[in-house]
Amino acid sequence: MRVLIAGGGIGGLTLALMLHERGIAAQVFEQARSVGELGVGINTLPHAIAELEALGLLPALDRVALRTRRLIYKTGRGDDIVAQPRGTWAGFAAPQFSIHRGRLQRVIHDAVLERLGPEAVQTDRRLVTFDAAGDGVTATFEARDGTRAEASGDVLVGADGIHSTIRSHFYPDQGPPAWNGVLMWRGAAWWPRFLDGQSMIVAGGMARKLVLYPIAHDPDRPGEALTNWVVCAKVGDAATPIPAREDWSRRAPAEEALAMAEGHLDVPETDIFALIRATEEIYVYPMCDRDGLPRWSHGRVTLTGDAAHPMYPVGSNGASQAILDARDLADRLAAGGDPVAALAAYDAARRPATAAIVEANRSGGPERVIDFVEERAPEGGFADVHDVATADELHDIVGDYETLAGFGRARA
Ligand SMILES: Cc1cc2nc3c(=O)[nH]c(=O)nc-3n(C[C@H](O)[C@H](O)[C@H](O)COP(=O)(O)OP(=O)(O)OC[C@H]3O[C@@H](n4cnc5c(N)ncnc54)[C@H](O)[C@@H]3O)c2cc1C
Repeated sequence: MRVLIAGGGIGGLTLALMLHERGIAAQVFEQARSVGELGVGINTLPHAIAELEALGLLPALDRVALRTRRLIYKTGRGDDIVAQPRGTWAGFAAPQFSIHRGRLQRVIHDAVLERLGPEAVQTDRRLVTFDAAGDGVTATFEARDGTRAEASGDVLVGADGIHSTIRSHFYPDQGPPAWNGVLMWRGAAWWPRFLDGQSMIVAGGMARKLVLYPIAHDPDRPGEALTNWVVCAKVGDAATPIPAREDWSRRAPAEEALAMAEGHLDVPETDIFALIRATEEIYVYPMCDRDGLPRWSHGRVTLTGDAAHPMYPVGSNGASQAILDARDLADRLAAGGDPVAALAAYDAARRPATAAIVEANRSGGPERVIDFVEERAPEGGFADVHDVATADELHDIVGDYETLAGFGRARA
């Protein structure tokens, strides 16, 4: 069997590695000229890291990422709501990692090249069309100079992200992604460590939020961490037109992010305003997802990762669910038998599981706990959060989401 994978992001590359482990040939076609270190920080949950550990990638991840020890939810003013141990500190067999998206992609990419060979990832190959009418699939790719090339295989997987060509082939009327009116200013800078140097802070609710976590340490910079920050602000509503594609990762001046944070967001652990001012490159993105689909798999063609279930980046599920998709799909293809049936079974298992997370993220995912408390105490701070909500109420919101995301039951 030969599997063609359109898209060399975290989802597509992980799938290639997993297929190779199971003796199935895989070829990745990536539209970018090279696999560069794009993006900023992401978090990956323990059940997804367990899959990467099974691929032997834990030592490489430990070299470039940080094991997340604790997650603290706070009000926008910085009052503590609930704190949770994470990863192995919470009893899971595998860690949670805070990591630069590009470094995670690089670790998986390097392993693909080493194990599948240098030809396994072809860059400057944008999937433009495909034909899956017969007993196989033929896909056509276009390079930037306009030249086209074809590849044939038994299965085609669309791991081509939120603007997926394959998804729009099956759903030509789906329109642009759905935007909730929130913009996210993101950046990372070397900065004095806060708390234990491995903790993550989420402060504020869906309308105005700060996310802060370290993603790397460097022995040459003791006492500092590469600190990832996100300032989210609701600047429109569901009726506001989504920013144009070319503005999806536009560079922004620090003043824009500062204006959104000042008077709304602050935490005692570090000076977020100075951190924002110290950040050299700040990017702004719309918070988008898409409605669920009636089907991902159409004969020998299917979707995975953000192409299948783009979701708001709350709850650390974007990359994590793409990795879990890859595991499920690789197992089903490796079981032998009809690939069409394997793709249908993958669809039946993973589509409802991820649709529930997309839906939960629309109302804040685990971060709903912050809105919940702020609704109970709209006028300001409190001496003790338990004056406002019971411990059970707080833990139920966060714990229910973990179960939904598939790692509530994975404790060692
Ligand atoms: C540039 C970039 C930066 C990101 N930064 C962050 C971040 O900072 N924080 C965060 O939480 N999430 C970020 N994300 C999203 C996060 O990576 C995904 O949610 C998650 O990793 C799931 O990944 P995926 O592989 O399904 O999709 P993606 O990561 O979107 O990867 C899709 C890949 O497919 C390629 N592609 C698209 N169309 C075609 C085509 N027609 N033919 C061939 N290849 C194609 C794209 O170039 C891309 O490499 C980013 C995504 C991208 C693409």
